[in-house]
Amino acid sequence: MTDLQPARGTHDFIGDDQRRFHRVVSTARRVAATYGFDEWITPIFEDTRVFARTLGETSDVVMKEMYTFDDRGGDSITLRPEGTAGVCRALVSNGLTQSLPRKVFYAGPMFRYERPQKGRFRQFHQIGTELIGPAEPLADAEVIACGWDILKALNVAEDTVLEINTLGDAESRAAWRDALLAYFTAHRDALSQDSLDRLHRNPMRILDSKHDADRRIVADAPTIEPYLTSAAASFYDRLRQHLIHFRVPFQTNPRIVRGLDYYSHTAFEFVTARLGAQGTVMAGGRYDGLIAEMGGPMTPAVGWAAGIERLAMLMPTTPSVPAPVAVIPVGDAAEATAIEILQSLRANGIRAEIAYRGNLKRRMERANRAGARSAVILGDDDLAAGVAQVKDLTTGSQEPIPFAHLPSRLK
Ligand code: ATP
Ligand code: MG
Repeated sequence: MTDLQPARGTHDFIGDDQRRFHRVVSTARRVAATYGFDEWITPIFEDTRVFARTLGETSDVVMKEMYTFDDRGGDSITLRPEGTAGVCRALVSNGLTQSLPRKVFYAGPMFRYERPQKGRFRQFHQIGTELIGPAEPLADAEVIACGWDILKALNVAEDTVLEINTLGDAESRAAWRDALLAYFTAHRDALSQDSLDRLHRNPMRILDSKHDADRRIVADAPTIEPYLTSAAASFYDRLRQHLIHFRVPFQTNPRIVRGLDYYSHTAFEFVTARLGAQGTVMAGGRYDGLIAEMGGPMTPAVGWAAGIERLAMLMPTTPSVPAPVAVIPVGDAAEATAIEILQSLRANGIRAEIAYRGNLKRRMERANRAGARSAVILGDDDLAAGVAQVKDLTTGSQEPIPFAHLPSRLK
């Protein structure tokens, strides 16, 4: 076993990669909390039916991308490809469908068997929010505003555009579906095999095709607008009004559909031009039918998910690590006191380190190499006087400081 590599499409997050990743999650968690979202942690694997039933039999995720296997007891298990189905399953299995609204935030790994490329992995990570209960477009606008605030807090908002669309209600969608079916059937000779497969099962899905040939045909496909019922049209109008009040800039894009089958009304994506073909950083919509699919009562809900890796790639700066203070005992007698000082600095929230061996010169070299900002040097004379020599490693100045004053001095 000499050349073990990470499995295809997976990554290690080390150093700056980890810090960028962590910044995305901690920022999102903090902003989502200001909107009242409460974090849930659900299992990364579930009974396969949680996804097969709900993601829709025709979705790419279910058809081609799921990591599904039988466990040793013979149960079919799937590594979660997305977070919404698990949150809805948890809502139902924990008997929470009567205590609504619920605002859920989550962060964690997702798994899809995809061809790895820039911004597309087999194990990737998402943050997401779900607002479960309200059927009003104010809820849709609020989750979108929360997503926008997270993008702003990460300094990536300038590079992204919010595109919104409506998928109408069931009646609008049925009429639109017929129009799409007629249109794509008339152009069937030019469609890709993937799209032909979708034609009768779910022609809407063709709008999401990434094949060049399909995209040319999609460009002139009928939009849902003329098929909207007045209720669906008014929902969409109110959403746009609310977004203006939340001061979230947006564009409408009638081509946006969601990759999964359970959406209605609102569909949206935050897209960027900076990640090539993998330009969608955050995507979501309203999924009023999903919780009923899961065995719960008919429960309206809206949410989004965002790829942590894609957000981390867009972040303009890498979070820095605080420079350490190096504690340097000179001689064995000083070591016990050095450990005490080390721990009192740490207890005060100061990053402090001690070298494990070497003379004063060696330890000073090491402190400089580690980027230490100060050295706390403890010689025999200092010990007797109850002071340490604090050397500022940027200016080179040095002065004796009593032990008790070290934490406040080095804060
Ligand atoms: P795409 O069109 O890029 O395949 P999708 O529609 O499959 O995206 P969603 O299911 O909406 O994506 O997931 C929400 C977000 O999760 C995406 O916008 C993206 O940022 C991220 N994401 C999805 N799949 C991957 C992946 N394989 N690797 C990295 N990030 C991903
Ligand atoms: Mg996908």
